[in-house]
Amino acid sequence: MDAHPTHDRTTSLSDAENWFALGSGALLLLVGASRRSAVGALVAASSAPLLYRGITGHWPHTNGETQRDTTKTALGGARGVHVRESIRLEVPLAEVYGFWRRLENLPQFMAHLDGVTESSDGQSHWVAIGPAGLAVEWDAEIINEIENKLIAWRSLPGSDVVTAGSINFDAARGGRSTEVRVHLQYAPRAGKAGALIASLFGREPSQTIREDLRRFNSCSKRARFRKPRKRRSHMRAVCWEGKEKIKVETVPDPVILNPRDAIVKVTVTAICGSDLHIYDGYIPTMQKGDVLGHEFMGEVVEVGKDNTRLRVGDRVVVPFTIACGRCYFCKEQLWSLCDNSNPNAWMAEKLYGYSASGLFGYSYMYGGYPGGQAEYARVPFADVGPLKVPGTLTDEQVLFLSDIFPTGYMAAENCQIKQGDTVAVWGCGPVGQFAIKSAYLLGAERVIAIDRFAERLELASSQGGADTLNYEDVDVLDALRHMTGGQGPDACIDAVGLEAHGTTLDAWYDRAKTTMFLATDRPHALRQAISACRKGGTVSIPGVYGGWLDKFPLGVAFAKGLTLKMGQTHMHKYMPLLLERIERGEIDPSFIITHRIGLEDAPEMYRTFATKMTRASRSS
Ligand SMILES: [Zn+2]
Ligand SMILES: [Zn+2]
Repeated sequence: MDAHPTHDRTTSLSDAENWFALGSGALLLLVGASRRSAVGALVAASSAPLLYRGITGHWPHTNGETQRDTTKTALGGARGVHVRESIRLEVPLAEVYGFWRRLENLPQFMAHLDGVTESSDGQSHWVAIGPAGLAVEWDAEIINEIENKLIAWRSLPGSDVVTAGSINFDAARGGRSTEVRVHLQYAPRAGKAGALIASLFGREPSQTIREDLRRFNSCSKRARFRKPRKRRSHMRAVCWEGKEKIKVETVPDPVILNPRDAIVKVTVTAICGSDLHIYDGYIPTMQKGDVLGHEFMGEVVEVGKDNTRLRVGDRVVVPFTIACGRCYFCKEQLWSLCDNSNPNAWMAEKLYGYSASGLFGYSYMYGGYPGGQAEYARVPFADVGPLKVPGTLTDEQVLFLSDIFPTGYMAAENCQIKQGDTVAVWGCGPVGQFAIKSAYLLGAERVIAIDRFAERLELASSQGGADTLNYEDVDVLDALRHMTGGQGPDACIDAVGLEAHGTTLDAWYDRAKTTMFLATDRPHALRQAISACRKGGTVSIPGVYGGWLDKFPLGVAFAKGLTLKMGQTHMHKYMPLLLERIERGEIDPSFIITHRIGLEDAPEMYRTFATKMTRASRSS
């Protein structure tokens, strides 16, 4: 993701003209997010921009894993059978949640279930009875659980059935009733067991689930709900309370939900440009009280029993994309496309047909995982994601392995740079800055950075060693042609992007049309990159796009035989490689940091950051 908010409050023509500015802002670090360090100091204030991106990394550990793939068809992917039903109950949220949370209660109303037994480690054993009285059994694990909001589970490897489900809870009618949305997926294996499972739900799985829910409603009327036990609440965390409302609150401590989990005590975390989209209320499926933050690192304080890779005391950086390590996509090193880490895959599938991986602190559409702008965070699939870092490096040197450094690096790697190449980079936010440095690391001879803010161009030049173009002062296409002997850059990186905002694509499309395309004739970064690139070159797009683009010059790309590469960063693949580069002293990512604050000051910084970006986008 990139930092490219289309603030409503700046919907003027200058918005479109200043699209580069939208990606700008200061990079903030919440330092020492521990109980003891209450307030941090606000330090430097040069306005280096800040972008946000996701990465998945590659772990030697998972390569050797021989465990059978559970989940070619688990949480994501439009394969298998999907059932989605909802019901409103006249029972308060906490009671309904408490009932469902005890999975052993489910057979009370789910006709096909004979029994569910839970063990203490988040795993459960399910037995279903088929039409001929034959039993089918499987083991499942909890993937995510947010009190009073979400429960998500899936089957474990080796089960007769590949199944996954999530239940979302919402309070309705002022808290007197509860909306329950059930999403269930299953894909029977081939053979006899498979046929039996298919028959469990019958020809009309939706109908079966609807009937189950009706029975659930009757259960609820018989008042068999009990209030759930309250979890201990004493951790401080940055919470989203609504549009432009961020508070530091005391919330329940995270607990191990799955044997592969770890709990990390957060030492440093960053506020990202894309966190501002949440602040501004543009990210759908956020709920009051959600814990924010997707860039964080810290110390492991608790480890699930099946996690043999981490130990208490390990110092780790956590990738902002979550990957299971076992699905087809993880095995293909396409970590950010993991099929299993988003228990709410169906929400993303509505928009995109398929869901990418889950993300920390970034709405229910991406899994509802609490983020790392908190004292502690639960890390799911912690035997795959977190990268151990050596004590010789400071937190600030390695924190950006959680997102923006690998993102900038993958953007450059996607350019297939050869010795002597010239690479042009649009947008000098943090991802742009890392793309510039990475292009040089990968052998580029010359990098040309394009932006409109003097301080960002100055950073690109002084830190990145790039030649710079201020697009307000020069005709970018002419300048690039001139600088490359008439040929054009060998590769172009669009680190600006356009993030989808609004609750539907249509809303986004309309807004984009008005503010980006029709209201101005200024060229858009991507169109300009495609126009500028030399014949046969590569256009790499780390900037995020969310929907349909208008006036996309595909004909130009075709005529010139361009290669286009894009997508969310495959974090897990790049993190270990880039850690090595940091250790060798080839790069020190801390150059991008502008402010250091304490956790309790986060709301103030969100405000400052958002205002600053608004101002920036109006400043000329
Ligand atoms: Zn980020
Ligand atoms: Zn996966």
